[in-house]
Amino acid sequence: MSAFARNEGILHAEEVSLAEIAERFGTPCWVYSRRALEAALEEFQSELIGIESLVCYAVKANSNLAVLDVLARRGAGFDIVSGGELKRVLAAGADPRKIVFSGVGKTAAEMRLALRVGIVCFNVESAAEVDRLDTVAGELGKVAPISLRVNPDVDARTHPYVSTGLKENKFGVAYEEALPLYRHAASLGNLHVCGIDCHIGSQLLDAAPFVEALDKILALVDQLAAEGIALEHIDLGGGLGIRYRDEAPPAVSDYLQPMLAKLRQRRLRVLLEPGRRLVGNAGVLLTRVEYLKPGDVKNFAIVDAAMNDLARPALYGSWHEIVPVVPRRGRVRPWEIVGPVCESGDFLGRGRELALAAGDLLAVMSAGAYSMSMSSNYNSRPRAAEVMVDGRQAHLVRRRETIEELYALEKRMP
Ligand SMILES: *Cc1c(COP(=O)(O)O)cnc(C)c1O
Repeated sequence: MSAFARNEGILHAEEVSLAEIAERFGTPCWVYSRRALEAALEEFQSELIGIESLVCYAVKANSNLAVLDVLARRGAGFDIVSGGELKRVLAAGADPRKIVFSGVGKTAAEMRLALRVGIVCFNVESAAEVDRLDTVAGELGKVAPISLRVNPDVDARTHPYVSTGLKENKFGVAYEEALPLYRHAASLGNLHVCGIDCHIGSQLLDAAPFVEALDKILALVDQLAAEGIALEHIDLGGGLGIRYRDEAPPAVSDYLQPMLAKLRQRRLRVLLEPGRRLVGNAGVLLTRVEYLKPGDVKNFAIVDAAMNDLARPALYGSWHEIVPVVPRRGRVRPWEIVGPVCESGDFLGRGRELALAAGDLLAVMSAGAYSMSMSSNYNSRPRAAEVMVDGRQAHLVRRRETIEELYALEKRMP
């Protein structure tokens, strides 16, 4: 059962009415369900019982401390892509031995921070990064655990902006270059080669490309073993899609079992880096209709959330379901659901058949992933509040920014 369902017609998050949340915390407002987060993590963990493994939540999908805390308490590790995310997960109580560090542009300072806290692995994405990490670790008198992110050159068949496993993408080490780079890394004194990883894209709706990538990665694992480089873990990345509209993403078991079957005979710890699948459907964006502006060609419903809050429709043309919190009777018309930002691309939904009146509350569904974490202050709009619902309780887990905070770091000319 979804954590967002109607009770006497009113949309709720778990046991709390979204109308009540809007009343208490104002709009726009992000609302997350603890139960949905825990259930999504449990789906992965239950497939991994008896397998030495670690589910590392990809923090960039939603990095609110309360989200991280809920997942950490249930045993999740974290996949981070910056020093900022490292500090965040530590602030949320994460165990450093459950943190992997991905990303193509790690600075020396970020490497030092991660080496000092003792993360479990650096997912290294280039030859130049191998050498930098060896140098930085040497300066600290540490040995850096590494895996190479190998680009298996498979087509994830997803949106070009979120496809990462093709040769033309900036991510990872080219397949042909992986073997020589592993040999080089193994020869360096301040690195411990311990794993291999790949991440081929996001919002994948088919399990086949994952298996295709794994076959290529396992061929490399075998070649490395033949040369005396025995890996300890394999990191299968993230990328499993969710349902926004009518997509039919694989069940977690249909995604994992074919891969686990290939790994069963091997002594490799299994790491995963799911992001969207853990949080995407655990959050909604709550917004209120400010004005209705019906017209000859189009009807506009201007709401108090905008592309600075939820960028995905403007950025990727993504579709999010938009539903009334309290449905009303009346004339149903197609509405352009738009925000107040001064850009024609500022829309949350187009041509939505709804009966609307000014003041109505709308919920933009499936807004838990790549939503608040991508929001900005464009048009000097404070970022919205975030609320975590837990059963009958709603907790404010990030208060709304104030206008003054938006320019607090700035100065007039001397
Ligand atoms: C973004 C990212 C993920 C998570 O991707 P999802 O599609 O959200 O599951 C995992 N690993 C790496 C390296 C990433 O960059």
